[in-house]
Amino acid sequence: MAYKRILLKLSGEALMGERQYGIDPKRLAEYAEEIKKITDKGIEVAIVIGGGNIFRGVSGASNGMDRVQGDYMGMLATVINGLALQSALEDQGIITRLLTAIKMEQVAEPFIKRRAVRHLEKGRVVIFGGGTGNPYFTTDTAAVLRAIEIGADAILKGTRVDGIYTSDPEKDKDATKFESITYKDVMNRGLKVMDMTAFALSQENNLPIVVFDMNTKGNLEKLISGENIGTLVDK
Ligand code: UDP
Repeated sequence: MAYKRILLKLSGEALMGERQYGIDPKRLAEYAEEIKKITDKGIEVAIVIGGGNIFRGVSGASNGMDRVQGDYMGMLATVINGLALQSALEDQGIITRLLTAIKMEQVAEPFIKRRAVRHLEKGRVVIFGGGTGNPYFTTDTAAVLRAIEIGADAILKGTRVDGIYTSDPEKDKDATKFESITYKDVMNRGLKVMDMTAFALSQENNLPIVVFDMNTKGNLEKLISGENIGTLVDK
């Protein structure tokens, strides 16, 4: 196996499937099945899920809402997604724990690093909800932060595109894909892998990032087994 402990980052928008808003139960079940394939192989899996399918602080602010207020709404949205994912994973027979950056003890455990690591060691899938717990951050930053804290081997960013391209492949037909790329090259070429805060944090801590297409069945498993899936960013 290429990795022993991973942090899987899923965007909230990915959960919408074909919908315009909210959660598509079919997509959620598919993701749970994909995750089951790697937990069956003994991979320790932690997950950070976004909230963009429900609420984003920035879009609230553009409609006149207080940014901080909007960001807290976004963080709560990630907890809603986390609960949905937890339920879908449990349907697959996977033991899970949801840990939140903002305390809500009737709903989930508070995030405590040692506890998170212990859950992983015991083979439980750990879902981190509530982002970093601070406004003005994103769940990409939360994903990098948690990955470093728990000593993950890499952050696997599941998207609908199958890697990092020279330009946006959905707009430019001549765009070509990188098999791997250095942090420096990503910066020099101005490529958008994650937001700047998240990217800088991962570079500073030499946390490898893999961008891959999570919507193609079997990809996550192949990636874990060391196949050349997506684009690897490291030093
Ligand atoms: N958010 C925040 N602090 C964090 C993480 C998230 O304030 O540490 C808020 C922010 O408003 C963000 C929203 O939660 O827009 C949803 O997260 P994100 O946009 O990262 O979700 P994704 O794009 O992955 O679906």
